Amino acid sequence: AEMFGQLTTGLESAWNKLRGVDVLTKENIAEPIRDIRRALLEADVSLPVVRRFVSSISEKALGADLIRGVRPDQQLVKIVHDELVQLTGGEVCDLVFAKSGPTVILLAGLQGVGKTTICAKLAFYLKKLGKSCLLVAADVYRPAAIDQLTILGEQVGVPVYSEGTEAKPAQITKNALEEAKRKNIDAIVVDTAGRLQIDKSMMDELKEVKKVVNPTEVLLVVDAMTGQEAAALVTTFNIEIGITGAILTKLDGDSRGGAALSVKEVSGKPIKFVGHGERMEDLELFYPDRMAQRVLG
Ligand code: GDP
Repeated sequence: AEMFGQLTTGLESAWNKLRGVDVLTKENIAEPIRDIRRALLEADVSLPVVRRFVSSISEKALGADLIRGVRPDQQLVKIVHDELVQLTGGEVCDLVFAKSGPTVILLAGLQGVGKTTICAKLAFYLKKLGKSCLLVAADVYRPAAIDQLTILGEQVGVPVYSEGTEAKPAQITKNALEEAKRKNIDAIVVDTAGRLQIDKSMMDELKEVKKVVNPTEVLLVVDAMTGQEAAALVTTFNIEIGITGAILTKLDGDSRGGAALSVKEVSGKPIKFVGHGERMEDLELFYPDRMAQRVLG
């Protein structure tokens, strides 16, 4: 399923109502605006975001600075496009690297969201940038998670640092960082333990790891299928541990796209990457303008 398919169709009905109209007026945009509102809500965009979005585009549609010679329906398309770009942060936010020493990328997220997969995808991404990388198995509760990371590490040709399930995540991560320094490795990517739900022990553990290695990036991995919930999750993790951005996974699934549109506005943190499949290549930087174009079909 095309993630924004339904949203695209919903928005089309808004433009269609402006066919043959000479100029945008309060009267003739009322119904298209309602269509836009409905389409966004049906796509799981969070309600406060929809409210602000709709009020902003209504204002702009009636504003004076519209482009001459452009059809009213096209003007509204342009306004919605620009608003979508702005809503999602305007610009691409690439990884930030440490000024000296290894860059530490700490990944957090609930269980099953695709965190371990993202670790390996990021290692693969770093490798393509010509950077050496060490994967760190700090999810000590599930032996299967360590095995999975080891297998994925082999697959992308990146070493995995592990101390089994006995050591503490903060200690493992600290030791891995020391090893990376010794070996002049550019970056470490740390896989941490998730839980089914947010809980105190998970947050405490993340805080501890964070304190010990002072990461350059703390990225929350979020399943796009969680829809409305995604933006709230990013907000909570940001308040609790302080994050630098989010990674949305499973965009190839049945998600309706709302998470991609709400996260930045609700949490103040950008989506840095999106994952859209199980292969290591299925990771991309998040480009607000490309996303807006996909929404508009
Ligand atoms: P973790 O528990 O957060 O570490 O999650 P995993 O990385 O183990 O992923 C959970 C499941 O989701 C695995 O079966 C992955 O293959 C799958 N998965 C991860 N990312 C994606 C994605 O972008 N798209 C799809 N379709 N499946 C994914």
